[in-house]
Amino acid sequence: MAFPYKKMTDADFNSIRKLTSSDRVFTGSEIASEYFRDEMPEYGIYQPELYVEVLNTAEVSAIMKYAYEHNIPVVCRGAGTGLAGGATCKYGGIMLSVMRMNHIFPVDHKNQTITAEPGALLVDIQTAASKEGLFYPPDPGEKTASIGGNVITNAGGMKAVRYGLTRDFVRCMEVVLPDGSIMNFSSNVVKNTTGYALKDLIIGSEGTLCILTQVTLKLLPAPTCTSTLVMPFRSLEECADMVPEVLKLPFIPTAIEFLERELIDIVERNLNKMFPVKEGEAVLIVMYDASSKQELDDAVAKAAEAALANGALDCFIAGTPERAASVWSVRGGILEGMKADSVAQEECDVVVPRSRIAEYVKAAKKIASSHGIRVEPCGHCGDGNIHTEILRDPEMSDEDWKAATKASLTELYSLSKELGGQLSGEHGIGNGRLEYLEDFVGERMIKLYKSIKLAFDDKLILNPGKVIEFNK
Ligand SMILES: Cc1cc2nc3c(=O)[nH]c(=O)nc-3n(C[C@H](O)[C@H](O)[C@H](O)COP(=O)(O)OP(=O)(O)OC[C@H]3O[C@@H](n4cnc5c(N)ncnc54)[C@H](O)[C@@H]3O)c2cc1C
Repeated sequence: MAFPYKKMTDADFNSIRKLTSSDRVFTGSEIASEYFRDEMPEYGIYQPELYVEVLNTAEVSAIMKYAYEHNIPVVCRGAGTGLAGGATCKYGGIMLSVMRMNHIFPVDHKNQTITAEPGALLVDIQTAASKEGLFYPPDPGEKTASIGGNVITNAGGMKAVRYGLTRDFVRCMEVVLPDGSIMNFSSNVVKNTTGYALKDLIIGSEGTLCILTQVTLKLLPAPTCTSTLVMPFRSLEECADMVPEVLKLPFIPTAIEFLERELIDIVERNLNKMFPVKEGEAVLIVMYDASSKQELDDAVAKAAEAALANGALDCFIAGTPERAASVWSVRGGILEGMKADSVAQEECDVVVPRSRIAEYVKAAKKIASSHGIRVEPCGHCGDGNIHTEILRDPEMSDEDWKAATKASLTELYSLSKELGGQLSGEHGIGNGRLEYLEDFVGERMIKLYKSIKLAFDDKLILNPGKVIEFNK
């Protein structure tokens, strides 16, 4: 094993400049502080020794080869929107940004796929597909994340209920291994049972196994119509009880999300966005896509009927794009609103079986209030991925905040486990959830994870200290 890593010297800096170009290499105080952290500074702020912007796979390979030979850690950076403290240089070394590798190749209509470099933005992939009458369904909240970051964190998002996760849309990929070798995992084929499914292992590996340099994604025919319903309820618990009722209907919803009134108020107050439905202490937002107006009307009518039969105070149908946008814009503003409304946040990203959603929500509220903290369960309730956001009020001391979050998270994770759930549904382990992983998955599983890591990265130079920690 390679720890302790080599401290980089001027000779190393010059070598990386030679492998790339001086105007794309930054060191010391030239490195902007935004690269010291991701969207969750609570999960660690670390300064890289060198920051480099690469232009192609050959440069990634040359840098990795150099780092491997000289025992220097490397962290790949996409757009830095991660919510797990993943894209940070915990042990110093090189931060390698792929954001200038952002080319999107023309849509391949015969295979219904699109190929892109990792720095292409999710929104640009969605737009490129849509311009060709096709549809890239994965829709995590942050549209300016890189497609590479989406693949490597296996981003889920709102539409996972109907379409699945990023993993379900990855056909094949090109990657660079920690020793600089360039590899392809799978090819543009629909099926593949050739050897181990390494493509699927890489998806969600959080930058710890290899660097993604190109990806080919499956596309679908675009739905022709869509509608969003807002069902207000007296309480979050009633809202949660409605989820299985929606899932029982003979139409697959595209998204099912819930929000408490308190959270809607936070977004309205801090971001100046207006939610169109004023009733109810909590709302369930249900979206349907369809390929005909008749199919959509049937789905909407059945869902509205079920809502009113199950205690909804009303059922608001946001049938036009503008109305739907007013609903989804408040939903999309949660993270930003919470940041503006509190001095720090902790996020619990558990996922529970759909049959246990209501139980989780009810117990989570009790856990948080027993520790005297503000908690806002919200989010992707249609797939059981309940983001349980913990907010710090300004008057709380450092000590109280740390103790209350630690105690709440420990209980929330054990609740998730008891209900048959998992520690993280879509944001990953990174640095932020590392300390909870072994308790959750057990010692034998950690050994397996470590063997997998070593099989790819025998010197432990790629994103060290994330997902699993050898240095303890
Ligand atoms: C407001 C907001 C809403 C969000 N909503 C959702 C949601 O609904 N569902 C969901 O699943 N996620 C959601 N996310 C998380 C989002 O999906 C991730 O932030 C995103 O996928 C990470 O992409 P990035 O380009 O920012 O990667 P970064 O943050 O730069 O990196 C994330 C991790 O991937 C690694 N990495 C990045 N690119 C590569 C590469 N090319 N090769 C190897 N490793 C790489 C990094 O080392 C790091 O470990 C949200 C985030 C925000 C800020």
